[in-house]
Amino acid sequence: MKITEQIEKAAGKTLFSIEILPPLKGKDIKSIYDGIEPLMDFAPAYVDVTYHREEYIFRRNQAGVMEKISTKKRPGTVAICAAIMNRYKVEAVPHLICGGFTKDETENALIDLHFLGIDNILALRGDNIKNEPHFIPEPGGNTNSLELIQQIENMNNGVYMDQELTNPFPTDFCIGVAGYPEKHFEAISYQNDLNFLKRKVDAGAKYIVTQMFFDNEKYFNFVKSCREIGITVPIIPGLKPLTTKKQLDILPKIFFLTIPEELSKNILAVADDRAVKEVGIEWTIQQSKELKAAGVPVLHYYTMGLSEATSRIAKAVF
Ligand code: FAD
Repeated sequence: MKITEQIEKAAGKTLFSIEILPPLKGKDIKSIYDGIEPLMDFAPAYVDVTYHREEYIFRRNQAGVMEKISTKKRPGTVAICAAIMNRYKVEAVPHLICGGFTKDETENALIDLHFLGIDNILALRGDNIKNEPHFIPEPGGNTNSLELIQQIENMNNGVYMDQELTNPFPTDFCIGVAGYPEKHFEAISYQNDLNFLKRKVDAGAKYIVTQMFFDNEKYFNFVKSCREIGITVPIIPGLKPLTTKKQLDILPKIFFLTIPEELSKNILAVADDRAVKEVGIEWTIQQSKELKAAGVPVLHYYTMGLSEATSRIAKAVF
C-alpha cells in the first residue's frame, strides 16, 4: 500500500516507521532480521531500506601498479526489500539514488521494483563518493532528485526511456523525497532549498521525509515554511537517538545539523556511552511525544540497524 494511503487510512493517528541499512558485504540477511524483529511488535507502517553506491579504493596490483577498484560496502537494497516484505508482510521502501546509475539503469531498477510489487520509492540524488569533491552524476544519469522524480513520474504515465515500446504498462509508484529542516548543505539559502523542494513536489513527490533533527522547533518551522510556499504533502519527521559521545562531533559534520546546547550538555555530563544512550533515548522519547501530540503523520526512526534504542522509544511513545 502507498505511504500516502496508509497515512489517510490512519485518519490522524501517528504511524511508526523505521529506516534500516543493508548489512556490510559478507554478512547475511539474518543480521537484518535480528535488527528489525524486535521492532515488528510495534507494527511499523513501512521499513525504508537505504541505498549505498560504490566507493573507489586504490590498491597496488601484482605488477606494483596502483589500481582504482570499485567496491560496494552495503549491497542488496532491492533484495532486502523483497525479503522483508515476504517475511513480515510489511511495506518496504527502497531508496533510489541518481549517483552511479544511467537513466537506462534506473529504468531497469524501476521495472524490477515494479515486478516485486513495491509501491513506494524514496527518490534521492545521493551524496558524492568519498574521493570526489562534489556530486558527479553518471554520464547519461539523472543529475538531481528532481530529474529522478520526473523519470519515475514518466513511467507512472507509461513513458519509458525505450521509445520503441508499444503500449507500455504504466507503473504506479508513490514517490517520497528528502527535506532538510536545517537546509541541505549545498543549497545557497534556506529559501532556495525550500523552492527546490516545492519543485520536487510539483513534479510528483507525494510525501517528504526529513533529515534527522534534535530540536523540534526546527521541524515545526520547516513545516510552516513549506506550507507557506504551497507544499501540502505530508512531512514525516526523521529522528535518531544519540548513543555515543562521538556522535556529538560527527553527526553535525556528516549531516550539517545542530545539536541543542541542553542535549550536548547532558551528554557531556555523563561518564560513558552506556549513559549517553540513556540520555539519547530519553531525549528522543520527549521529541517523539511532542511531535505526536502535534499530530505528525508518521514518526520515522533512523535505526542504523540497531533495534534496542528504537524499541524502547516506540514502547514509550506508541
Ligand atoms: P536534491 O533534491 O537533488 O538536492 C540537492 C541539492 O541541490 C540541494 O541543496 C538543493 O537545494 C540543490 N538545488 C537547488 N536548486 C537546484 C536546481 N535548480 N537544480 C539542482 N539542484 C538544486 N543518500 C544515499 O546515498 N542513500 C540513501 O539511502 C539516502 N537516504 C536518505 C534518506 C533521507 C530521509 C535523507 C534526508 C537523506 C538521504 N540520503 C541518502 C542523503 C542524500 O542523498 C543527500 O543528502 C544528498 O546530498 C542530497 O539528496 P537529495 O535527494 O536531497 O538532493
